[in-house]
Amino acid sequence: MNEEFGRGLLVNFCKMLYERQITVSAGGNMSLMIGDSEILITPSGRNKGLLEPEDLILMGTDGSVISGGKPSIENKMHLALYNLNPETRSVVHCHPLYCTSIAVKGKELKTELTPEGVILLGKVPMIPYFTPGSQELVDAVAAHHDAKAMLMARHGAITQGRTIEEAYNRMEELEFQAKLQTITGRAKVLPSSEIEKLSRM
Ligand SMILES: [Zn+2]
Repeated sequence: MNEEFGRGLLVNFCKMLYERQITVSAGGNMSLMIGDSEILITPSGRNKGLLEPEDLILMGTDGSVISGGKPSIENKMHLALYNLNPETRSVVHCHPLYCTSIAVKGKELKTELTPEGVILLGKVPMIPYFTPGSQELVDAVAAHHDAKAMLMARHGAITQGRTIEEAYNRMEELEFQAKLQTITGRAKVLPSSEIEKLSRM
């Protein structure tokens, strides 16, 4: 993927996340891998609905800033996932309302209420709270690098994917499942034999 195409693509997905209120104000950060050792990442402190392609920062997967201004303070969390998972090409971190509400309460997110949750997300670990941008938070996320999606206690959610569409879909589905769990209260999850069957799909 060339850089120009990548810039347009990432900005479009940021707008979708913002317009669907999956992320609000300057919250969250999103990135996309282009080539073998470079990523595009959202800048620090900017509203995700207003980003233009030229606002994105080009970084090396070694942590070097190649072009543009100041990358998101969470860039190390993104880089850790790219470096640990060769298949990952996009990382999306947001503060969606229902996910964050579950993460503030410290409850478990049930993804087995509907088949889509099992297929798209699987088990969603809860990362303990650490200060945003800290090495402790990077290490805690890295410890669960094989998860498609994670909740971050008192903070938000993070997903990864082999494409930006996959990472985006996982975030949208994660927020849907969090909302569903909030609305349905104590509803039971699917039978375990069905969960097992769906997990293999
Ligand atoms: Zn955050």
